[in-house]
Parts: sequence; C-alpha cells; structure tokens
Amino acid sequence: MTTDSSIPALEMSDVTLELGDGDSRVRALDGVSLTVMPGEFVAIVGPSGSGKSSLLAIGGALARPDSGTVRVHGTDLATLSRGATTRFRLRRIGFVFQSGNLLPSLTAADQLRLAGRLAGNRRVDTEPLLDSVGMAHRAGHRPGELSGGERQRVGIARALVNDPSLLLVDEPTAALDRRRSHEVVGLLADRAQGSGVAVVMVTHDRDVLEHCDRVLEMVDGRLSAVLPVA
Ligand code: ADP
Ligand code: MG
Repeated sequence: MTTDSSIPALEMSDVTLELGDGDSRVRALDGVSLTVMPGEFVAIVGPSGSGKSSLLAIGGALARPDSGTVRVHGTDLATLSRGATTRFRLRRIGFVFQSGNLLPSLTAADQLRLAGRLAGNRRVDTEPLLDSVGMAHRAGHRPGELSGGERQRVGIARALVNDPSLLLVDEPTAALDRRRSHEVVGLLADRAQGSGVAVVMVTHDRDVLEHCDRVLEMVDGRLSAVLPVA
C-alpha cells in the first residue's frame, strides 16, 4: 500500500480502557498516548498484566476504548461502523501472535491465500512473500511440519499479505531460542525499514530491543518510561 509518510500509522490519544466487572474491574489502559510513524519499529516492554496486549487490541481495532481517540493512518476508528471496522482491520492492519497462530490444516502458502481472500484480495502472490521471510522452500508445509521459528516467519508473511500500514506483534519470540529470536525480530526491523510498515511489538525479551527504533515501558496501564536503546 502506498502510504503518505507524514501521516502517523498509529496515533492513540489519552486512551483509557476498563476490563472486568465489579471488584475485579481493572483499568487496563490509563491515559495512553502513542504516535508511531510509517517505517518506525517501536517496542513496548513491561510486566505481565500491565496492559500491553490491551494496547495492541485497541490499536488494532479489535476493541474500542472507553475514552480517547485512535487513528490508524489518519482514520479515526470511532467513525467506522462495525462492518467497516472489520474491513479496515483486514486491509490495513496485520497481527503477529506469540506462536504464529496458524491454522493447522493449511499449508504455508494457503495460510497467506486465506488471509488475502478474507480481505477481498483474490490473487495473492505467495512466493515472493514467503521468499522475503526465507520460507519459499516450505510453501507446501503445514504448521506441524515447521519449527517454531519457521511458524513465526509464516505468521509474519501472512500478516503482510495485504500490505498493511500497521503491524502489531505480541510476544513473537516467546517460543524461540536466542538465535531464532534475533532472526525473527531482525526480519521485522527489515520490513519496517524496507516497506515502510509501522511495527509495534510487545515483548518480554530485552535481548531483541537492539533491533528497535524506540522502546517504551508499560506499567499499570500507563505508557510511562522511554528507555534508551543501547
Ligand atoms: P499484558 O498483555 O501486559 O500481560 P493485558 O493487556 O493482557 O496485559 O491485561 C491488562 C489487565 O487487564 C490485567 O490486569 C488483566 O488481568 C486484565 N484483563 C485482561 N483481559 C481481561 C478481561 N477480558 N476481563 C477482565 N480483565 C482483563
Ligand atoms: Mg499480553
């Protein structure tokens, strides 16, 4: 997708989100503001339960905040109907989850074709995309026949099928050893630099932060500290 590089890929302003009921009600996001430009690779670190996945859900139009605004590539998500939100998400936003989240019965190439078809994109050129994540030689393999790192690479290729403006990544290295972790996160950094997609990655893995442009810390629903990248 050709993106105007002066428009933020993600702009969250003073976002709050409460989850749960009664005594277990939690302020998962407490006045979060975040701007990510095209081509930027931002990491968010922070303890478990601090609101990191909630931030990705709100930024990815999977949930709506209680207050505050969220714009993805200039579009205020609150202005979209339910159906329009789904179409917008499928076309403009890519998600990568912890273990790849692939469908067990589909080959790598078919995972990509399905993601394309869901967004109304009938002709997906799977080969160059799989090649770009070093997986062209595994196009016909199902997830059970792939290693953790390979599954994660297919998951990244699938998230990029519709050429999104924004890629949201939740703990991509949780199941990987150190070397694979660097490969996968390095791949994300290359994509951000090469194609201009903005990447927001949540991680526990401080070892991979060197690949990122910016590191933010989430504590108790607040995006508070900015840590310098070594
Ligand atoms: P993280 O990804 O940083 O571990 P989450 O965004 O998943 O944090 O969760 C933030 C807070 O919201 C936590 O206290 C969690 O227990 C709570 N929470 C998450 N999902 C729900 C839910 N569906 N109902 C109630 N509370 C939730
Ligand atoms: Mg989480």
